[in-house]
Amino acid sequence: MDCIFCAIANGEIPTNKVYEDDKILAFYDLEPQAPVHILIIPKEHIKWAYDVNEENSQVIAHIFAKIPEIAKKLGIEDGFRIVNNCGALAGQSVQHLHFHLMAGRAFTWPAG
Ligand code: AMP
Repeated sequence: MDCIFCAIANGEIPTNKVYEDDKILAFYDLEPQAPVHILIIPKEHIKWAYDVNEENSQVIAHIFAKIPEIAKKLGIEDGFRIVNNCGALAGQSVQHLHFHLMAGRAFTWPAG
């Protein structure tokens, strides 16, 4: 399978890491949409949010359990936005589940 985020997760493609453990990886987005913009991924390949289920959802809980630690490490103290795009219509361009963690500016709602 040709997946760029799997290649990042297994170290084949170097990236600017913010946090890593045996299950997840957080790294800087190549095209930041905010002063702080990182991606948090499960190392296991899950294509998109449609494929989250009772068997694999522990890694999603783990990502959210680590988000406060990652935000503090990045010095984010005034709020952040978490985004998951699922499917082309929502703007998903990489077919490996990921959460955008963005901060450092005001965000509008509803999102476009
Ligand atoms: P999405 O559009 O929600 O699928 O988000 C994919 C994100 O991955 C985009 O914000 C891209 O800028 C980012 N991206 C793609 N390739 C890389 C890479 N090699 N390293 C870091 N970020 C990447």
